[in-house]
Amino acid sequence: MSRLLAVVFGFMIVYLLLRYYRKQAPHKDVLNGGESDHGETMVRCAHCGVHLPTGESIMIGHKSYCSEAHRRIDSGEPGQP
Ligand SMILES: [Zn+2]
Repeated sequence: MSRLLAVVFGFMIVYLLLRYYRKQAPHKDVLNGGESDHGETMVRCAHCGVHLPTGESIMIGHKSYCSEAHRRIDSGEPGQP
């Protein structure tokens, strides 16, 4: 019976150590702070909320949009007929 306890205790130690080391070495994406794999900053469309790289977005002031249509809708301009 004490052998079983020793095995369970051993697994617990390994599990706790793995958890500890994962906390010590956070994932790379967390360090980058919202950057994509290509190192480009991701922005959020102010209308539909989709995330896209800055280079593909339409920036108007502090707001960014995924497409010209969403920029028009959000700014109150009439859309396409
Ligand atoms: Zn959008």
